[in-house]
Amino acid sequence: MKTATIVGAGLVGSLWAVYLSKAGYKVKIFERRPDIRKAEISAGKSINLALSTRGWKALDAVGVGDEIRKIAIPMTGRIMHDMEGNLTYQPYGKEGQAIYSVSRGGVNAKMMDIAEEYGNAKIFYNEKCIDTDLENGIVYLENTETGKKSEVQSDLVFAADGAFSAVRYNAMQKLDRFDYSQKYIEDGYREILLPANEDGSYKLDKNALHIWPRGRFMLIALANEDGSFTCTLFMPFKGEKSFETLTSKEAVDNFFKTTFPDFYNMMPNIADAWEDHPLSSLAIVRCYPWTHGKTALMGDAAHATVPFYGQGMNCGFEDCTVMWELMQKHGDDWNKIFEDYQLLRKPDGDGVQDLSLHNYHVMRDYVADPMFLLQKKIEAHFSEKHPDKWMPLYSQVTFSHIRYSEAWNTGQKQDAIMKKVMKQFNDIENVWDSEDVEKAILNEL
Ligand SMILES: Cc1cc2nc3c(=O)[nH]c(=O)nc-3n(C[C@H](O)[C@H](O)[C@H](O)COP(=O)(O)OP(=O)(O)OC[C@H]3O[C@@H](n4cnc5c(N)ncnc54)[C@H](O)[C@@H]3O)c2cc1C
Repeated sequence: MKTATIVGAGLVGSLWAVYLSKAGYKVKIFERRPDIRKAEISAGKSINLALSTRGWKALDAVGVGDEIRKIAIPMTGRIMHDMEGNLTYQPYGKEGQAIYSVSRGGVNAKMMDIAEEYGNAKIFYNEKCIDTDLENGIVYLENTETGKKSEVQSDLVFAADGAFSAVRYNAMQKLDRFDYSQKYIEDGYREILLPANEDGSYKLDKNALHIWPRGRFMLIALANEDGSFTCTLFMPFKGEKSFETLTSKEAVDNFFKTTFPDFYNMMPNIADAWEDHPLSSLAIVRCYPWTHGKTALMGDAAHATVPFYGQGMNCGFEDCTVMWELMQKHGDDWNKIFEDYQLLRKPDGDGVQDLSLHNYHVMRDYVADPMFLLQKKIEAHFSEKHPDKWMPLYSQVTFSHIRYSEAWNTGQKQDAIMKKVMKQFNDIENVWDSEDVEKAILNEL
C-alpha cells in the first residue's frame, strides 16, 4: 500500500486525508495542536466561515457534504446596517442560491472523524513539523509536549499547514529559484461574539450575512448554530479611526455607541467582550513552485489570501478537487500529477488573491455607494435577461466552478463595460432597466 503524510489537520488537510484514504493510501496526518475534538481550544482564526459552491463540490465528491449540511446555515444575501439602523437587503445570487455559515471547528472535527473512519488515516496530535526532506518524502517532527524528535518517511508529502507553513518556510524557501512574497494589508480584525437572546433565539436574521459598512472599516456578522453570531471588525491598525485608538474600555464603548448604534443596542457590554478574542493581522502569501520531489503545498500553504471574498477555504477545497481529477487522469504518475497541479492551480491561486483584494475594497468603500449598487442592479437585470452572455462576478466566484483566474479577467472586462455604459446615460438612475441600456451593453460585448 502506498503511504502519504499530511502536515496539518486543518480544513484542507483533514479533507485531503479523506480523498487519499478513498484512493487506498495509508495516510498519517501530523498536527501541531492538540485534538480539537477533545480540547476546548480556539482554532486561532475565524470561528465561522462562509462555504460556497466550490467547497460543496469538493465535500460531496467524497460523500462528506451531507454531514456538513447538517451544521450549515444558509445565507441568501447580505443585509447592510446604516447609521440610523436602516436595513438594506441584497440577494447574493438567484432565487435558491446561498452561501453557508459553518463553524470552523465543527467542519474540522467532522472531517477528522470521517478521515479516521475510512480506516486508512491516522492523526497524530501535538506533532509539529520542523523540517522536510522534499525529495525523499521525509517529515521531521517535534512533539510540542515532550520535545521528542522523530521523522517519518512516505511516498508522498502534502503540506496543508496553513499560511505560515513550516514545510514551505523550512524547506521550499531554501530551494534555488523559489519565488516567495508576503504582504500584510493595513487592516487587522477582531472577533466579537454576539450572544443569543435569553430564549436562545437570534438577535438578527440568521439567513443573511450582516454588514455595517463604514467607509474605511466595517463590522460583519455570521450566524452560529446556537443562536449567537460571530461578528468581525475589520479596521486599520493605525490612524485616526483604528485599532490603536481603541485601547480603553471607554474608547471601545464610545466607538460602538456612535458608529454601530443598532449593534450597540444589542450588545451594550461590548467593552467587556472586546478582549475575548485577539487582534489579528491579515496577509497574502504568494509562492512558486508549489511542488518539489515528493512534496506538494495545498490550501493556505500555497495561496493564503485575505478573507474578503470568503473563498480561502473554498479554494483550498478546490485544490483537493483538482488534485483528485489529476489522479484520475494520470493514475500513479505523481510527477505528472504534481506538474499539472501547479501549472493549473497557480493562476487560480493568484486569481483568488486578486479577487479577495478587490472585494476588500468593494466591501470597505463601495457597498454603501449608490452608483455601485446601481451598477450591480443593472448587471443583475441584464444577466437575468441574457444569462448566456453575462454572469455577475460574485456569482462566477461563489456559485460556479469557473476558474478563479478566468472569473477575475471576465470581472474586470465587465466592470469596464458597465462604467462605460453608465457614463452614456445622464439619467441612468431612471433608465437603468430600459432597452437602450440593454442595447448599449450588448454593443460592448
Ligand atoms: C478572519 C478570517 C475569515 C475567513 N473567512 C473565510 C470564509 O468565510 N470562507 C472561506 O472559504 N475562507 C475563509 N477564510 C480563510 C480560511 O480560514 C483558510 O483559507 C483555511 O483555513 C485554509 O485551510 P488550511 O487547511 O489550508 O489551513 P489552516 O486552516 O490554517 O490549517 C492549517 C493546520 O496546520 C496546522 N499546522 C500549522 N503549522 C504546523 C506545523 N509546523 N506542523 C504541524 N501542523 C501545523 C495548524 O495547527 C492547522 O491545524 C477566513 C480566514 C480568516 C483569517
